[in-house]
Amino acid sequence: KTAMVHNFGAGPSILPKEVFEEASRGIINFNNSGLSILEIGHRTKTFQAVIDEAIHTLKDLMHLDAEHEVLFMHGGASTQFFQVPMNLLDEKASAAYTDTGIWGTKAIKEAKLFGNVDVVCSSKDANYSYLPKDFKADPSAAYLHLTTNNTVYGTQWQDLSLFYDQNVPLVADMSSDILSREIDFNKFDLIYAGAQKNIGAAGVNVVIVNKRCLGKVSRKLPTMLDYRNHIEAGSLLNTPPVFAIYVCMLTLRWLKNMGGVSVAEKRNNEKSDLFYQTLDSIPAIRGTVAKEDRSKMNAVFVAENAEVEKEFLALCEKEGMIGIKGHRTTGGFRVSMYNALPYESVKALTDLMLYFANHKY
Ligand code: PMP
Repeated sequence: KTAMVHNFGAGPSILPKEVFEEASRGIINFNNSGLSILEIGHRTKTFQAVIDEAIHTLKDLMHLDAEHEVLFMHGGASTQFFQVPMNLLDEKASAAYTDTGIWGTKAIKEAKLFGNVDVVCSSKDANYSYLPKDFKADPSAAYLHLTTNNTVYGTQWQDLSLFYDQNVPLVADMSSDILSREIDFNKFDLIYAGAQKNIGAAGVNVVIVNKRCLGKVSRKLPTMLDYRNHIEAGSLLNTPPVFAIYVCMLTLRWLKNMGGVSVAEKRNNEKSDLFYQTLDSIPAIRGTVAKEDRSKMNAVFVAENAEVEKEFLALCEKEGMIGIKGHRTTGGFRVSMYNALPYESVKALTDLMLYFANHKY
């Protein structure tokens, strides 16, 4: 018998059990076709139905209007760091960027290859432990870029009206909190996210783009990097990551059947409330970020000394709590609580934290 584990990994991360089961069946015999999902052509009717359902379900879950297109693309969210400015930022134009963590910093570096970058705010001086809210983007900016949830540092913009009020086109990296809470997604010109947290399997990323913002830059674009070509080809410009898209479709179907984003949000609130309440009740460990900016997806905390850290980590490993070691750049701990993580896993972890606090420290 395999030991019970709770997976708090930051990504690739837990997906619904039903999705693992269905995807396993699909590898052996997809929808009783006698074929594996791994051996069917991407231009077959069979696969077309898979990608159609994935796109429609995502549009539905995000309440997207007719101007917003959904694309499944390769290269991870990291490719979007340069594909976005390549398509939206002219060489002499300027884009506004918020610097709120490792991923935002990487996006800034890539954007500088294509045009001017105005870093409108940064919390680097405080090791990205809070979200800098006092800024104004230049009204002439091509767009304003934000990372809605900072996976490594554990901060998340709770109130996006600050961005809506800027009156500048918005571009967001939503890799680690997409579909975890109700947002007016139509307010964004472009949204991108690696699939490997709330959407599905690694190997594909999702881009949601308002087609009206495309075709405005003067540079020549390589075929594979021009969003318009992907829109025209319905995400089948070349061979897409078929299996990863299939897993996305199953995960999106699961989310829809569960009641959609609002139900996920309610559950995510319950999980993060329980987690942070417990964290705040234990003196030997403490959260590292400003309370109002705490992420509901990734909770980051440290122990009061190296010995506590070592002992707590050892206890977690012994009890099957997987993936809670902090990012290699921050140390400490990180507990990720994506959509598919059950409440019971958070309960098991918080019970263990209380046991640790009462019996060890
Ligand atoms: N942005 C954010 C917010 C992330 O969390 C990550 C990865 N965890 C990335 C970008 C990079 O994603 P990828 O590995 O798919 O390129």
